[in-house]
Amino acid sequence: QWDRVLNRLRAEVGEAAYRSWLKPLSLLSGNDSFIRMAVPTRFMRDWVAGNYQDRIQVLWLEEIGVPAQVEIVVQQPVRPVPKPALVDVVEAPTPVVEAVSERLVVDVPNLSTEVVHEAEVQRITAPLDPRFTFDNFVVGKPNELAYAAARRVADAEAVPFNPLFLYGGVGLGKTHLMHAIAHQIRTAHPEKKVIYLSAEKFMYQFVRALRIKDTMSFKEQFRSVDVLMIDDVQFIGGREATQEEFFHTFNALVDQNRQVIISADKSPSDLEGVEERMKSRMGWGLVADIHPTTYELRLGILESKAEQLDVVIPQKVVEFLAHKITSNIRELEGALNRIVAHATLVGRSITLETTQEVLHDLLRSNDRRVTIEEIQKKVAEHFNIRVSDMHSSRRARAVARPRQIAMYLSKQLTSRSLPEIGRKFGGRDHTTVMHAVKKVEELKSTDVEFAEDIELLSRMLEN
Ligand code: ADP
Ligand code: MG
Repeated sequence: QWDRVLNRLRAEVGEAAYRSWLKPLSLLSGNDSFIRMAVPTRFMRDWVAGNYQDRIQVLWLEEIGVPAQVEIVVQQPVRPVPKPALVDVVEAPTPVVEAVSERLVVDVPNLSTEVVHEAEVQRITAPLDPRFTFDNFVVGKPNELAYAAARRVADAEAVPFNPLFLYGGVGLGKTHLMHAIAHQIRTAHPEKKVIYLSAEKFMYQFVRALRIKDTMSFKEQFRSVDVLMIDDVQFIGGREATQEEFFHTFNALVDQNRQVIISADKSPSDLEGVEERMKSRMGWGLVADIHPTTYELRLGILESKAEQLDVVIPQKVVEFLAHKITSNIRELEGALNRIVAHATLVGRSITLETTQEVLHDLLRSNDRRVTIEEIQKKVAEHFNIRVSDMHSSRRARAVARPRQIAMYLSKQLTSRSLPEIGRKFGGRDHTTVMHAVKKVEELKSTDVEFAEDIELLSRMLEN
């Protein structure tokens, strides 16, 4: 089974990437729904997890027909790796920090004897945005797993996995996918009761039910649905009473084999102020993360939105936007709408100049580049030395070379001057930095493997 997946992956990524990243993967254990693989270094683990893990999950889903959790662990190889500087240590398990939850004081004033009417309760579900459909969703590497999982849930006749947990940063398409699932199910099965609401609204409804002393009908309403979607579940963090209720609702639905779909800005285990049992329960189905956008995805989205708006935007402007607005899809969309609105308003066509003018403020806030501190941290991690060695005066090759590489990357990836970079490396002189840059360039031109390492590091840093 794994071989089938691996072969498809190999065909997709090409021989070179296959040999560097996929061939060294060794399958430790696995069944239909769980695969554990080992790689020799932490660096490789990060790389494979960042670049191939989602694809592996997608291919697995397609080939085997069931979702699998993929786990990649670091395990030292039996033979020493030829380049000692790159050998990483086997990781110690990270201690689990227990989140401390704040108690929610539910204030239950005895004010109302209001009755919850049936019609009112039906309004529990929030309205769906008609534009948030699968057709309007542009699929790329960062969101392909989440998309595949969402489609599966929407199209499957029986519950394929429960719950589906979607997570990712703001403005990356979680809500869009949830609405798309709801549209799809409602169209195919109008008889099904599909409820979509934010965790905040869930909380509000619950607190309100407590207040009017009608938790019974609240419970019934939620427990009789076919599909329950709770968006932005991180908001229940720290609210104990709401969590408790949500947990019961969740369990009742899953036990009855009703589909539950949850979104959050973090993975289940990283949610703050959420009980352990709840976190672990939410991770039982399929957990799919949506990654930050790539240039290709941003291009695709701009093209698709321009078509929807029925405007022609010069290719130069499209590329400029895709390069500059990297924060999230919501901002990208907002930027496009703004330049289109401006052009319509002043009755002129869209140019690069007007774009820069109109988006002045937005462009500045998106101009976040990597910092020297981040470079030092990543490089130190990569070579398994201490960050403090970046500032120290030790000259041993094992620390001097990584330090030079970090200086080189600081020059390439930030807009800092040589003296500024020198200061950040323990107050070194700008000539030292210049020397480091030259040295690394020289090594890059003579040593292919070294050049590849530097290339990888800088790509990891830029992401
Ligand atoms: P989130 O819920 O993750 O914060 P949203 O789902 O609200 O993000 O998405 C923000 C905006 O970006 C929405 O207008 C949505 O339609 C759009 N969007 C997000 N992802 C995509 C995508 N892959 N293709 C097209 N539009 C997208
Ligand atoms: Mg959202």
